Amino acid sequence: MAFEGLTERLQSALSGLRRKGKVTDADLRDTMREIRMALLEADVDYTVVKKFVREVREKAAGQKVLEGLNPEQQIVKIVNEELTMMMGDEAVPLNQSKKIPTIIMMVGLQGAGKTTTAGKLALKLKQEQNARPLMIAADIYRPAAIDQLETLGQQIDVPVFAMGTDVDPREIVQKGLAKADELKADYVFIDAAGRLQIDEALMQELADIKKIAAPDEILLVVDAMTGQNATETAQGFNDRLGITGVVLTKLDGDTRGGAALSIREVTQKPIKFVGQGEKMTDLDVFYPERMASRILGMGDLMTLIEKAQKDVDEKKAAEQAEKMRQNTFDFNDFIDQMDQVQNMGPMEDLLKMIPGVANNPALQNIQMDDKQMDHMRAIVLSMTPAEREDPDLINPSRRRRLAAGAGRPIVEVNRMIKQFNQMKSMMSKVMNGNTGQMEQMMSAL
Ligand code: GDP
Repeated sequence: MAFEGLTERLQSALSGLRRKGKVTDADLRDTMREIRMALLEADVDYTVVKKFVREVREKAAGQKVLEGLNPEQQIVKIVNEELTMMMGDEAVPLNQSKKIPTIIMMVGLQGAGKTTTAGKLALKLKQEQNARPLMIAADIYRPAAIDQLETLGQQIDVPVFAMGTDVDPREIVQKGLAKADELKADYVFIDAAGRLQIDEALMQELADIKKIAAPDEILLVVDAMTGQNATETAQGFNDRLGITGVVLTKLDGDTRGGAALSIREVTQKPIKFVGQGEKMTDLDVFYPERMASRILGMGDLMTLIEKAQKDVDEKKAAEQAEKMRQNTFDFNDFIDQMDQVQNMGPMEDLLKMIPGVANNPALQNIQMDDKQMDHMRAIVLSMTPAEREDPDLINPSRRRRLAAGAGRPIVEVNRMIKQFNQMKSMMSKVMNGNTGQMEQMMSAL
């Protein structure tokens, strides 16, 4: 996941303070030097880093941090606040036109994720506002861009206006807007062309389309994996077109994350959404504060809760909670629950959103990768219905059969059943309000 290296470096810089009884001016200077290095290594723009370090220092001095109690905690708080400010303070919604349709123009370099993001946003508006979007295929240069948009349109059931690759994009946009009126579409997405690099011909074409369509929103789509270049690209598009917002894509990838931290400061335009996967539902509103907490390894519980609310079947969850309380949770429930959790995304990423797990080295080593979940699933699927409902039936000879059926070693079967029983008993205690033992277990980890 993005920011891993940065999180580690920042935590190590800040934990240097924790180990000290009293924090001196020199300690603070060392810490700030480490933070500065960490940000630069994560590809954050140099001028942005300079400003950040200066502001943290000034704030720390102004609040007389070193003289107060818990200087380390106060500095973490200041760093968190400044990181948040650097990324824009508050979430900014899409611009809305007073009359329909609201026109959104997608711009960015080729491969940044414009087409995909147009589809994701259209789906989001459809699901959340019952909107009726239309997407206009105006990228006539990238091979297959039009096909891709049409396929996406079918997948999410949103109409696409296309005229092939032999018509001038300006004309496509003009006709597309007329089509939007005819269809009474309330949102129009213009999937404009991109290039591998900014060039004059492209900028002229985009400027012309802007003139024709008078978009309410010009969203610059930026691939977070492109590091330093991302800020330059953003500046280039902003200078020429006056973008109104940014979408950062591929934050699910292994990026150093600097782009996320610099773009807002450099363009002064808000990051509105982040793309965190290839699926049509992998688009999230960008909350600077939550992102700052995630970067500092403080977890992102709000996002986790929202994901859970969105992806988890509430009725099933309530049934399972009741079974946990009554200690009748069985392997069928276990598999249901595993399905629901896996729908939410890679386990490793989910765990990191839990405060305490994110920055607790012991808990970070919890072995819960997705492959392991698949192995567990294979073992459960080898059980007979009776065994799934009554795990006590599973005696040693049955365990051998399960191991053979799932193609896993017997020790793994034993371990899984043991963990299942422990979890069941812990859940039942938690659900009945007795959490003492759970805390004991967690602290023993
Ligand atoms: P365009 O040239 O700007 O229209 O880019 P595309 O929409 O075709 O995207 C390029 C590639 O990036 C495609 O393979 C997308 O599936 C992928 N992509 C887009 N957004 C994301 C994202 O948030 N995460 C990941 N992992 N892949 C993405």
